[in-house]
Amino acid sequence: MNHDEATRLMAVEKYLLNEMPPELRDEFEEHFFDCPECSADLRATEAFLAAAKDEMKEVRVAKPSPAPSRKSPFEFLWRPAFALPAFALLLIVIAYQNLVIYPHFANEIAQLRTPQLLPSLSLAGGNSRGGETPSITVRPSQPFALSFDIPTQGRFSSYTCLLYSPSGSIAFQIQVSAQQAKDTISISIPAGHRETGTYTLKVQGDADGSAAGPASDLAHYRFAVKEQD
Ligand SMILES: [Zn+2]
Repeated sequence: MNHDEATRLMAVEKYLLNEMPPELRDEFEEHFFDCPECSADLRATEAFLAAAKDEMKEVRVAKPSPAPSRKSPFEFLWRPAFALPAFALLLIVIAYQNLVIYPHFANEIAQLRTPQLLPSLSLAGGNSRGGETPSITVRPSQPFALSFDIPTQGRFSSYTCLLYSPSGSIAFQIQVSAQQAKDTISISIPAGHRETGTYTLKVQGDADGSAAGPASDLAHYRFAVKEQD
């Protein structure tokens, strides 16, 4: 079986729903071991079916389906509590894809097409040695931009910016080329799982591969993130 055939036969769904004749099962098994697309599809669909199984714990079926002719890791589908007709399960999979997955993507694409104000915090103009710690107030769901300058030195081929969260763990690490470092750097800080409090941004110069040495700290910036209710 090749990939086109597998797609045309809806092999993944039929395999998981035990609707495949044994010869085809063998052929498909041979195929998906070597096909990253089909095996990814199998894993995703299997995970969905496992979730659907939980949803269906309440469903009561009067008459259990006959036992499958062959043991399968997806046997749970055939236990009385889950023995919905396979076709209904398939419909649920399709409905899930249409109602949940696609509108979700459509929504994200629409958001990407709509211009949005990005709050930004500028650290340009020096380290905060003395003076107030600059701060930004954003909604928890809102990304923001952080801009700063890198004090460049000719001996560095690139720079690493490390952002430490208030709890001291590294929130992210980003590498900037010497060319990019000539201008003010602007980094977008994503929303979600973002701690509030005082962050530290550390800029290091990366020693050239030929003269490998310890990274040199070039700048420390501190800033505070507050969240709007
Ligand atoms: Zn395939």
